[in-house]
Amino acid sequence: MGGGGGDGRSKELERLWAERDELDARIRLLESELETSSAAPASPAGEDAAAAGVGDGGCVGGGGACQARPGLAHADSLPADMIYRYSRHLLLPDFGVEGQRKLSRSSILVVGAGGLGSPVALYLAACGVGVLGIVDGDDVELNNLHRQIIHQEAYIGRSKVKSAADTCRAINSSIKVVEHHHTLKPNNALEVVRKYDIVVDATDNLPTRYMISDCCVLLNKPLISGAALGLEGQLTVYHHNGSPCYRCLFPNPPPVAACQRCSDSGVLGVVPGVIGCLQALEAIKVASDVGEPLSGRMLLFDALSARIRIVKIRGSSPACTICAENSVFTQEDFQKFDYETFTQSPMSDKTAPSLKLLPESARITCTEYKGLIDKGEPHVLLDVRPAHHFQIVSLSRSLNIPLSDLEEKLPMLETSMKETLDASAASDKQPSLYVVCRRGNDSQSAVQLLREKGFHSAKDIVGGLQSWAHDVDPDFPAY
Ligand SMILES: [Zn+2]
Repeated sequence: MGGGGGDGRSKELERLWAERDELDARIRLLESELETSSAAPASPAGEDAAAAGVGDGGCVGGGGACQARPGLAHADSLPADMIYRYSRHLLLPDFGVEGQRKLSRSSILVVGAGGLGSPVALYLAACGVGVLGIVDGDDVELNNLHRQIIHQEAYIGRSKVKSAADTCRAINSSIKVVEHHHTLKPNNALEVVRKYDIVVDATDNLPTRYMISDCCVLLNKPLISGAALGLEGQLTVYHHNGSPCYRCLFPNPPPVAACQRCSDSGVLGVVPGVIGCLQALEAIKVASDVGEPLSGRMLLFDALSARIRIVKIRGSSPACTICAENSVFTQEDFQKFDYETFTQSPMSDKTAPSLKLLPESARITCTEYKGLIDKGEPHVLLDVRPAHHFQIVSLSRSLNIPLSDLEEKLPMLETSMKETLDASAASDKQPSLYVVCRRGNDSQSAVQLLREKGFHSAKDIVGGLQSWAHDVDPDFPAY
């Protein structure tokens, strides 16, 4: 826990919050016990009724809040509808009634209803967590559906949280599902996270990862953290049984270039599915106090070679600025902390960082470029995206030389420029050279390089193909 340091008041506040958490947990437990013990007189008793699903559903406030049947011998036994629904859990000697009971009294927050959050929420709902909270500020999009299996086409354009919560309720109406329709930010995270026993980080960006970890340390919550990108994934349980927090392992964020995102690098749909399932499993283990959670170890998954490795990771660091005993990081500090500046990357997947490397004279807009095409101006259009991007879609008559190969393949560009010059009626004038990429960042770097190498007419097409689709050709496929 981050202590208050010299600030006695913030320590006092943290102590009170911890006490409130403890009280909240006791209230939930007593409520569920009370409701369990107050038998419903009108309810039909007997195995057949339960087997037929008569007692199934309708109760909220946690699986433990279902009503018990009169005449059941054991005061500690689960309500009949729970026995039937979770019978395969109860048959497991290592899980059994006690595991199910603990799970049904626990509350778990899933941050992110995307590729990781989909299987996490689905399984936690199906398995009978008492309270399932889901946080996400985004809407469902068509390009989510290949991996975000909790959503359906009918929900495109609607809130992800609503979509996910509706699916969870359809699977298990006996649990409580809480919808948090916003992005988790430093100014609201403490208030939301405080209400839950366990947190699952199912987000996909670096600043949010730091923020959730710091928040969990301040509120003393175990954090089930997962990540999936491309064909690889990883997971671990932070801040639990002496395991480190995220900052213990990564006190400083990696350079911006090292941070990849699904929207840039791609991800095979089933990879976050695998990691999300494992996150759900770890969350259930922590909630029910069963087995050995993945604390102090990290699981690494390589889909291409079908290999799973588990590596030991260091314990919590005595030098950690957040979780070390002498930490002075308070809840107030947390609320003011600028995670985007700290990591140099945005919290939202939507806002790609846009560079501005060139003077205005070295750039033209998509609309201006369209005008030049219409006028028939002789030019070369160089597309500097990777070859596999170029295969997805490209503008007609563009030459593909990926940025990473540009320097060594300049002769190819020279040839193309010469051919254009020869084909044009206009004498000795160098043809124009325009450079495009997906979003208009790599194209600027390319223009810088080209101008250094003597291609003085090189100009960047602002905003790349994304702007082309937005401003010129709405039918141009976005990806
Ligand atoms: Zn730490």
